[in-house]
Amino acid sequence: MRVLEVFDSLQGEGVWAGVAMTFVRFAGCNASDLRLGCLAWCDTPQSWRADGGVETDSAQIVERVLRGGLGRVCLTGGEPLLQGEHLARLIERLQDAGVLVHVETNGTLPPPGATRPDWVTVSPKPPDYVIVGGLCGMVDELKVVVDQDFQVAWVEALAAEHPSAAVCLQPEASRLAETGKVAADAVLAHPGWRLSIQLHRVLGIP
Ligand code: SF4
Repeated sequence: MRVLEVFDSLQGEGVWAGVAMTFVRFAGCNASDLRLGCLAWCDTPQSWRADGGVETDSAQIVERVLRGGLGRVCLTGGEPLLQGEHLARLIERLQDAGVLVHVETNGTLPPPGATRPDWVTVSPKPPDYVIVGGLCGMVDELKVVVDQDFQVAWVEALAAEHPSAAVCLQPEASRLAETGKVAADAVLAHPGWRLSIQLHRVLGIP
C-alpha cells in the first residue's frame, strides 16, 4: 500500500470532530478518472498520485497506529478504497488489535471484502453525487461539501437513500462567507442535519 502520511490529530470534520485519532492517508484518487467536481476545491491534491508516498505494509501501519495510543484510526486519502483487499486486511488487523476503524470514501467504489469498519463516512462528489450500491447499509455519515453549485435537493435525495446516516454539510473553505450561509440555512431547514466546519483549519493543526 502506498501511504502518504500517518499522523495523530483531532478529527476536524463531521460527526467525530474534536475526537483524537490517528490518520492514515493513502496515495491515489480516482476523481480525475471520473471527472469529479471536487478536483476544483480538493484540499489534499498531494494525495492524487497513486505512486506518491511510501510503500508500507499493514504490519507497519498497525504498529504505528498502536504507538500513537489513541485507539481510533481514520483511513483516508485520496480514495482509500482503491487499496482494495489490502485495505480489507488492514482493517481486520487493526480491529483485531483493538483499534476502532473509521474510513472516509468518496462513495464511488464498493467496500473491500467482507470487512465492516466501525464508522464509514461517505462524501459523495459533484456533479452526480454517486454512491455505489455496494455501500448501501454501510453509510454511517454523509458528508457533503457545500460548493457554489450546491443544491439542497441532492442531499435530501441522498439522505432518503441512506436514512440511518448522519448528514453533515461542510462549507467549501475557499468561499466560506458564501457557502457557510448556504449550509447554515440548509441545516436550519432540516433539523437533524448538522454543520461541519473544518476544525483543523481553525486550529491550524494537521
Ligand atoms: S475524491 Fe477526495 S481526495 Fe480525491 S479529489 Fe475529491 S476531494 Fe480530493
